[in-house]
Amino acid sequence: NLNDSKTESFNKENLPAFKVKDQLINIINENQVIIIIGETGSGKTTQLPQILYNAGYHNNGIIGITQPRRMAAISVSKRVSDEMNVKLGEEVGFTIRFNDLTSNLTKIKFMTDGVLLRETLNDSNLNKYSCIIMDEAHERSLNTDILFGIFKKLLIKRRDFKLIITSATMNSLKFSKFFNNAIQFKIPGKIYPVDLMYRSIPTIDYIDSAVKQSLKIHLSNMNEKGDILIFMTGQEDIEITCQLINDELNELKKLNNEIKNLDILPIYSNLSSNLQSKIFNNSNNRKCIVSTNIAETSLTLKGIKFVIDSGLMKLKVFNPKLNMDSLQIVPISKAQASQRSGRAGRTCPGKCFRLYTLSSFEDEMWNEPIPEIQRSNLMNTILLLKNLNINDINKFKFIDKPSIESIETSQYELWSIGALNNFGILTNLGKNMSKFPIDPMLSKLIIISNFKKFNCTIEIIKIVSMLSVPIIFIRSKKDLKLQKKSDKIRENFQISESDHLTLLNIFNQFQNIKNNKEDWCNKNFLNFKSLKNAVEIYDQLIQLFEKNNLNNNKKEKISTCYNNWDIIRECLCASFYSNAAEFYKNGQYKHLRSGLEMYLHPTCTLNGIGDLPKYVIFHELLMTSQKQHMNYVTSVKGEWLITYGSIFYSKRLRGMNGKENQ
Ligand code: ADP
Ligand code: MG
Repeated sequence: NLNDSKTESFNKENLPAFKVKDQLINIINENQVIIIIGETGSGKTTQLPQILYNAGYHNNGIIGITQPRRMAAISVSKRVSDEMNVKLGEEVGFTIRFNDLTSNLTKIKFMTDGVLLRETLNDSNLNKYSCIIMDEAHERSLNTDILFGIFKKLLIKRRDFKLIITSATMNSLKFSKFFNNAIQFKIPGKIYPVDLMYRSIPTIDYIDSAVKQSLKIHLSNMNEKGDILIFMTGQEDIEITCQLINDELNELKKLNNEIKNLDILPIYSNLSSNLQSKIFNNSNNRKCIVSTNIAETSLTLKGIKFVIDSGLMKLKVFNPKLNMDSLQIVPISKAQASQRSGRAGRTCPGKCFRLYTLSSFEDEMWNEPIPEIQRSNLMNTILLLKNLNINDINKFKFIDKPSIESIETSQYELWSIGALNNFGILTNLGKNMSKFPIDPMLSKLIIISNFKKFNCTIEIIKIVSMLSVPIIFIRSKKDLKLQKKSDKIRENFQISESDHLTLLNIFNQFQNIKNNKEDWCNKNFLNFKSLKNAVEIYDQLIQLFEKNNLNNNKKEKISTCYNNWDIIRECLCASFYSNAAEFYKNGQYKHLRSGLEMYLHPTCTLNGIGDLPKYVIFHELLMTSQKQHMNYVTSVKGEWLITYGSIFYSKRLRGMNGKENQ
């Protein structure tokens, strides 16, 4: 599909970055750290690696490029392999978590920043790389920020190593200062003016407003070219928006058959890659692309003339009360708003419809996004730094320091799950936990599943794989009949008060289906891509488990409990006891540690059973319109909570009801 883009008159020689390639190479040759600033679409991501390659940098090691998002890593590596006329996975490849498409031929390697960060665990000097391009650094992802601190040291040890930081226009001065006033180079580029239109009154329903606005644009510019780009927050609102635009357009066509077609194209990370690449294909129809904030700067779309900006995004926010990250819909920053509107002015003057008022832009939006490191749980990060022998986290060179409070809380949490000892030093468990590229609680779960008491590693790794992929269950938000049908079918898979066991059951059934797994998924309202992905993750986790010799007790094979439900539930409780909740009233629970009220997620197995269990553990919290939903819930016994979570619950639960039944 991507080859289609070649048939049009694309000429990389015309890209701003290409035009200054000689200057770029001179600066890179003469400096160790270089900050490159350029408008979206100027060729930073696709051209820089090729420029370095043509200058011979690949002869001293791999040219590595990091991306904050997996989807971008895949999409741009495809594009570059295409431009270089090589097969993806050979000279040009990508590595994202659980998916490696590189070989020993690979000279240009795209990867997520998380992948590179984990590589520093095995090779702190990154010796196989001649240079690293930290792309999209302005996003200030947690992993990028930690890599910056690690590079501070590495640059002294490896004088031959080049670090190139690329950024949209924000933040570049800050990067320069952090790296001893590193040189900044701005790629000259032209942008066209974009008219900004605000709402006069706030919208009540941003989806509805976006749908109406897009149709208005389409109808009133019927004989003009120009694609539409709508910024939404995530898969759910993107799907609804696409559906509604489609429905309304069909209604309009019935009344007036002169209405032209519109290609309505969603774009979010969980979308199948062949649907994703549709956004780059040529079409005679106007395109209406409905995207997450990935289209702000990481993906370059051509021909956009109209932008519709909801002003919102989904963000992982740390909730200190719960000591947990959760996804929330929040307003974007002013800098992002201007990136979004800028997408309309790449090829000609454009228009941006902001679905918010001027005063909410001025008064309610931050100037710049808050870096992830200052709004996330740091358990993972601290575990990783300790594995790099950085014991005193306060001495680590952060570009923006997280608060002392959040460092301390996360260290406490790591201590409470047994990853750190009383002196803050890594325990064996802590060391083993970082062998898996997953959340600390999930790696702990895998490790303890192999303890004699449980012996259920096969089952637990299956469950962990299912928990590591997004959206297993398909449940229509709009079509209530379809929703009922899917809820009914889901019941066939449900197992004894446990979503985790239900996931295990689905995994097992999926594995046993011989032909046409995709059909089977569709019939059962299950997401085929996610399930396929879970099986791949399972294979890799099993390999990691074996490679790291975690099979203690001199067991020959990886342990299994032959699907013994109680053993699995107890094992889950032994790792997830801090996510425990107690029944409160009418389908409501309260988080045991914080007292916060929580609800069961609509797809939860426990919905609709008569007496709800007194205690449950849950995998994660999802926030939807001010309600917190526990996602993936399993009933547990009170006595297990006392046994495994004694630091938190021992006194309380014993004092309250003595010995608990479940
Ligand atoms: P930057 O990183 O500076 O934002 P890119 O290197 O991603 O810019 O893109 C440069 C140009 O290459 C874009 O303006 C677009 O014309 C073209 N391009 C990039 N990716 C694709 C793709 N997947 N399909 C078609 N054209 C693309
Ligand atoms: Mg880019």
